[in-house]
Formats: sequence, structure tokens, C-alpha cells
Amino acid sequence: MTAAVLGGQPARPFPPGAPGHGGGGAMRFSVDAWDPSYGTSAELEDFLSESAARVDVNVELSAGRWRAIDPDPGTPVPPALLFVDGVRRIDARVWIHDTAPGGGPASDASMGLCASYAAGVVCCCAQQAHLVRFETRRGLFTVASRAGSIVTWAGEYTASRTAASKEKPLSVTLSQALQRRLGDVEVWTAVEARAAIAGHGVPEGGDLLVIDGPLYGRQHLPRALGYIKSHRSTYLPPELNAIVGTLSAGQRTPAFLIGTSWDRHTWYLRLPVAAGPAVAPWAGIVRIECSADLPAREVIALAGLSQACLGRFASAEYKDARAPQNLYPIAGLERELRRRLGDPRLLYRALRLTAQSAAVPR
Ligand SMILES: [Zn+2]
Repeated sequence: MTAAVLGGQPARPFPPGAPGHGGGGAMRFSVDAWDPSYGTSAELEDFLSESAARVDVNVELSAGRWRAIDPDPGTPVPPALLFVDGVRRIDARVWIHDTAPGGGPASDASMGLCASYAAGVVCCCAQQAHLVRFETRRGLFTVASRAGSIVTWAGEYTASRTAASKEKPLSVTLSQALQRRLGDVEVWTAVEARAAIAGHGVPEGGDLLVIDGPLYGRQHLPRALGYIKSHRSTYLPPELNAIVGTLSAGQRTPAFLIGTSWDRHTWYLRLPVAAGPAVAPWAGIVRIECSADLPAREVIALAGLSQACLGRFASAEYKDARAPQNLYPIAGLERELRRRLGDPRLLYRALRLTAQSAAVPR
């Protein structure tokens, strides 16, 4: 993983005149060799998935009364479901050079990440699934206090400076800074999308936001659910956790409260799984989150809504390797957003060109 390779390398001496060495103007930087493993890291998920959680299982039913909860066929489905997702990609790793006093060669360089990221919202309503809002951005993520934006012919990487941490490798600090920015853009597109759909017959408050991933940082959005497909941590005590494996399609566990570095209400839900000879006990299980600040009756209403809404968007196995948990509006949105990030090879070459073109002959 990139984190292991980069860990503990906040700075390194830089050999002047090496390939990709840039200079001139306000900031000199160089670009590392292309690494195909960029963008595959999941540091934030690891960071967020502390299993040493505080758990209150008595939100909806007391522990002794826990059982699988059936969907209520009378639950009205919201006229619009808004699916929110974001994608990120590291286009290049760069080294930002401190300018030595008097303009001499720099002795230290600080690693930065040039990344493209995008967020978007798909609305599923009477007008079928349609893309409501999307936003693509590029950023230079760095701890170098004097770093400026990198302008290439293919796009501008806006400088985003963050504080270094003694507890985390630099690559994790930068990756989390990128994730926070992506989260901000997701919130922004979600708010914009809500305003936009008011124009096509969706009454105020008639939508439901489904955010792909943890609700972290988005808890303040009304009528919002976090949608978690993978299960790295075990939150429930064994006797209650065993109920998850027994859920039928459409059934859910009672809602419960978990607190790690942040608090939220949550429940497990089983999506319909295509019948097969060997269906794993947790096949089709997703975990849904909503705000910790909601009263129990609103949490229960949202849990019921998730049962009524989400099953019909479960992707068929032949369409998606992560089926059925990867809901097809989200899968489609992800493909569209990745396309809008642009050609990574081209952006990489543009960054190299900017680094080289500013080089000062010596
Ligand atoms: Zn719509």
C-alpha cells in the first residue's frame, strides 16, 4: 500500500537537475515517477473503522427483545431519492522545494499529492434516474506552508495546505485532507441538488439523501442516510450480531447507536440477493447510518424508509462485481464521475511539463 511505502518520509534531500525538476516562479516542484497504485488507498475507512466503539443497542428495542424487523408495505416511498457519491484519484506525487535564502538550490523537499476529485448527485424520481449536479476539482495537498497552486495546460491544482501530524504518516495526513475536501464537495452538491429538484415537482421535504459511505461530516444534512457496503468492524455483541446473518431480504435489525470518534444511529439491512447455491451469511447486508441527534421515532422512521426504498436499486450480480450492495444509481454515478476526472496519463504529463518548463538553467 502507498501508506507503507511513504510512511515516515516527511522530507528528503533533492538532487538538483534530476528529471522532472521544476523551478522558477513562486514555487519549485518535481514530479515522481508514475505509480499505478495511486488512488487505491483506503486510509480513511481504516481510520474511521475503530471497532472499540461505544454501543447502545436499546434505541428501538431492548437487547432482550432484539429480532429481525420486517418491512412495512404501507410505508410511503419518497417522490425523489437523491444518491450522492464522490470519487478521488491521485494524479501524481510531487515534491515541493523550499527555496533556499538567496535563491540557491533547495536542500529539502516536502511531499504533496496532486489529486482530481469529483462529487455528484443522481435523482431517482418520476423522471427516472438523472444526474442533477456534479462538480470536478483538482487540488495540490501539501503540508508545505508556502505552497502555491500548480497551473498546467490541462487544469489547475489548487493549493490545499494542511497541518502535519506527528501521529500519522504524511501520506495518510494528505489522503485524509483530500477526503475532507471531497466530503465538502459532496455536501455542496447535495445541497445544490436539493434546491434544483424543487423545480420538478418534488415537494419540499419530499426527498431522501443516500450518501455512499459513512455519514461522517454530513450528519447535519436533513433526511440523510449513510450507506455502508463493507463491514470491517464488528459493533454488536455476539448474540445480537448473530441476528444479522439470519435476516431475510428486506428485513433489518433494530436501530442502535454507535460512538467512535463520532456518534451515529445505525442498523443492518439485507438487500434482495439473487438466489444461488451458496449464498454467504452476510451476502447483501448493508449498514445504514443516520444522525445521532435524531429522536428514536425519527430514526425508526428512516430505518423503515430504507427498507421501503433501497431494495429496488440493488444491482444484479451480472452487472456489478459488488452486487447487490452497489446500488445501480450509485454505480452509474461513479462511472460518470470517474470519466469526468479526465485522462490520468494526460494530467500526469501536464504536471511534468509544468515542472520542467519553469526549470531555471544552471
Ligand atoms: Zn428527479
